Amino acid sequence: MKIDRIRLDRLVLPLDPSFAAAWDPVPRRSFFATIVRVDTDDGLTGVGSGDTMDGFDAYRHLFIGQDPLALARHVRVLETIDFHAGRYWPLEVALWDIVGQVAGLPVATLFGGALDGLPVYASCGELVAPEERAQRALRFQDEGFRALKIRVDPHRLPEGLAAVEATRRAVGDEMGIMVDLNQGWRMPGDTKPALDPAGARNAVARLRELDVLWVEEPLAGTDLHGLRELRRATGQRIAGGEMIRTFPELVVALESDAFDVIQPDVVLAAGMSRVRTLAELTLARHRWFTPHTWTNGIGLLANLHVAAGVGGGPFLEFPYDPPGWTVERRDFMLAEPLRADADGTLRVSGRPGLGITLDDHAIRRYAA
Ligand SMILES: [Mg+2]
Repeated sequence: MKIDRIRLDRLVLPLDPSFAAAWDPVPRRSFFATIVRVDTDDGLTGVGSGDTMDGFDAYRHLFIGQDPLALARHVRVLETIDFHAGRYWPLEVALWDIVGQVAGLPVATLFGGALDGLPVYASCGELVAPEERAQRALRFQDEGFRALKIRVDPHRLPEGLAAVEATRRAVGDEMGIMVDLNQGWRMPGDTKPALDPAGARNAVARLRELDVLWVEEPLAGTDLHGLRELRRATGQRIAGGEMIRTFPELVVALESDAFDVIQPDVVLAAGMSRVRTLAELTLARHRWFTPHTWTNGIGLLANLHVAAGVGGGPFLEFPYDPPGWTVERRDFMLAEPLRADADGTLRVSGRPGLGITLDDHAIRRYAA
């Protein structure tokens, strides 16, 4: 079998304008998603998405004519490209999708088959007033979610902490609450200073009183020493690592004792194969592995298959914050959006590969 063709479809995300503005301090025309399709010479097609794949055309020839099943070779080649250019991990996702189709098995089974699904947490992206955040949390609870994650703007800490307080009061003790300070994440052009260590320590100590499950990226992601000190000083679970770019750096982060929860996104950070290995190391050290999934339904599926395969958890991120961010907007390129069961579990479908069915009409409609 050979790789015959690699197709890239660049799409404009159908974002709610106020939701987009809440994320990006620098005005830009739009956000993009790229769908990668790998066609083989015997008629199979694998699908991936996540990184935008900008600049990939210069490296396409390194894959055309190659055996699509030679994943170890492709991962090493993608790492050499990542050194010079982009994180083209959606291509690896499409190749794993082909491997699963050839095997007749879900990718999660090939990755270990530990679980057939994971409880998901509603991962909120919008910054809203405390009362509104609490109301939305009650709706999540009604829909079956057992946890939610609240994004707190480090430059508006009192308001963010008030949102967590109001939510805890509204939902009671049963529902898990995570908090993301996003200090490891930067939109292009955002040069605002990071939260200082003393401010982070005060915020984390207050969040511990509110019994949050984890605090995510309270300091810059590269500040492993600071994160480790914060863990020790507060006793609060600390999460991070969603965008750590290479496998060796992920291992350093794990060994530095900076994180209780490691979150590399397989479609952005280091790919499915490498993140699987990292996840197994993480679990062997009795830490939590639960990846970042904030891209789209295809990225969510790729992360679900790895996390379910190795037995990650205890929750998987489910980007969801209606009315601005619905499953229909998130998964607009899929024939059917991904939904959790009534008990808040996202299941691996039994279909071979990643089980992706694209909506060709949507792909034409939102073409950039
Ligand atoms: Mg995060």
